Amino acid sequence: MARREDGTHTSLATEHPADHQTARSAWAPIVATGTVECRRGPACRAPALLIAPDDEWDLGDPDAACDAPRAPEHRQCNRATATWRRAAGRRTPELHPAHR
Ligand SMILES: [Zn+2]
Repeated sequence: MARREDGTHTSLATEHPADHQTARSAWAPIVATGTVECRRGPACRAPALLIAPDDEWDLGDPDAACDAPRAPEHRQCNRATATWRRAAGRRTPELHPAHR
């Protein structure tokens, strides 16, 4: 019994992709009503904050750009985050080896 505790973790500790899918499925019918606002709020990049029923959307998780709880956000807003993260991490412009 002790071994199980310090050995493998149960699925409660780490989140599995399946949970994300389940959460998305739970949100889908709500988003389909067109009354859900993009999780990004002021940082939303879409023309309208509301996610239209036919908009592409992703379940957004808290990150550096937005620490709001997991909720639906426009796909374009979700994708944009990756760009911001990359830009934020780039403190100094890196010189291409060919330019040194
Ligand atoms: Zn948005």
